[in-house]
Amino acid sequence: MLDYLELEDDLTGEEKLVRDEARRFVEEKVKPDIGDHFEQGTFPTDLIPEMGELGFYAPNLDGHGLPGLGERAYGLLMQELEAGDSGLRSMASVQGSLVIYPIHAFGSEEQKERWLPALGNGEAVGCFGLTEPQHGSNPAGMETRAEKDADGYVLNGSKTWITNSPIADVAVVWARDTSAGGSPVRGFLVETDRDGVTTNKIDDKLSMRASVTGEIGLDDVWVSDDDVLPGVEGMKGPLSCLTQARFGISWGVVGAARDAFEDALQYAKDREQFGGPIARFQLQQGKFAEMATQITNAQLQAHRLAELKERGDLRHQHVSMAKRHNVRVARDVTRTAREVLGGNGITTDYSPMRHMENIETVYTYEGTDDIHTLVIGADLTGIEAFE
Ligand code: FAD
Repeated sequence: MLDYLELEDDLTGEEKLVRDEARRFVEEKVKPDIGDHFEQGTFPTDLIPEMGELGFYAPNLDGHGLPGLGERAYGLLMQELEAGDSGLRSMASVQGSLVIYPIHAFGSEEQKERWLPALGNGEAVGCFGLTEPQHGSNPAGMETRAEKDADGYVLNGSKTWITNSPIADVAVVWARDTSAGGSPVRGFLVETDRDGVTTNKIDDKLSMRASVTGEIGLDDVWVSDDDVLPGVEGMKGPLSCLTQARFGISWGVVGAARDAFEDALQYAKDREQFGGPIARFQLQQGKFAEMATQITNAQLQAHRLAELKERGDLRHQHVSMAKRHNVRVARDVTRTAREVLGGNGITTDYSPMRHMENIETVYTYEGTDDIHTLVIGADLTGIEAFE
């Protein structure tokens, strides 16, 4: 596997174990039929509990059955999962960074006891409801409302593009609490079988096909006071979750790029044209040199992010830079890799085009490339381009 600057020589024994276990899981359980799932638009749901047993959900957190691994181990896990498919890494990102993390960071002791063990071992599936039909890049404009009643809240609104909502047991729904001054955003744990909740599936996706995506409709849905995340108020609630998930994406997409690169390299050595392997042509070698350099630069950013996170110095702007850069790399590399495969490259028999299509989603979700560009620009100039 491409590790040109030998970054993985510095891994600890534990980190190597995590990487190897995830790599084996992907080789044995994911790769054999991920192409079929992509074609059929299905997620391999039978793998959800197995991923839980293997500790793939929020292993960088501790307590309530979570193992408390380091940030680099977590990053390596995301990298290996996304080498399988971005849908697989999305499953682990949503469950870990967007559902387990907010309960772990902002939940009451009762909420933690109730949800963390079940989410951690994959018995329960969670989803994260922030985006709305009219509010994507600007989630602060959200219209979903929580109105206070005697001992709870009544939720109304709709969320869309929600990974896993049709298969989720619980949704972390972000809504404005109209009972408090300034209607601050608060997080609500909403079981999806409550009266008034609908979770329609979004079909016809041309990207991230091996992942279930849906809406969350909230029509007078009652939740108790005990279902509100007590430890956070305002946009820092959802935004802090997104920083966690984007850290995982910065690592994950390196896996997609690397897998596409490896497929193309093998193909170029095997495929013969004009009396020998296409890998001997200088034009092809130029592509491999460029892809390997780009992937290596992305690996360097990912490894550095983990160091900064581990020592508590990671700023969300650092994560914006790595998310933006590494997704761009994955976008370029998967397209070039597909090109090397010629006609065979447009089938699901090889990974590059599937990864390439998935990356269009990754380029857009968790902050589009444009939004991260503006975050970095604001950090550098001190001038916000948008509110
Ligand atoms: P818009 O915000 O309408 O943006 C459209 C275009 O305008 C983009 O190119 C954008 O960069 C550009 N733009 C917007 N504002 C600016 C600006 N200020 N300056 C310059 N350009 C700008 N959301 C969740 O809450 N939970 C999930 O689990 C989830 N999963 C998803 C899964 C998939 C498969 C997809 C596709 C999306 C998912 N999302 C999820 C939603 C995702 O986060 C949004 O699609 C994303 O934030 C962009 O919002 P939008 O699609 O409304 O695009």
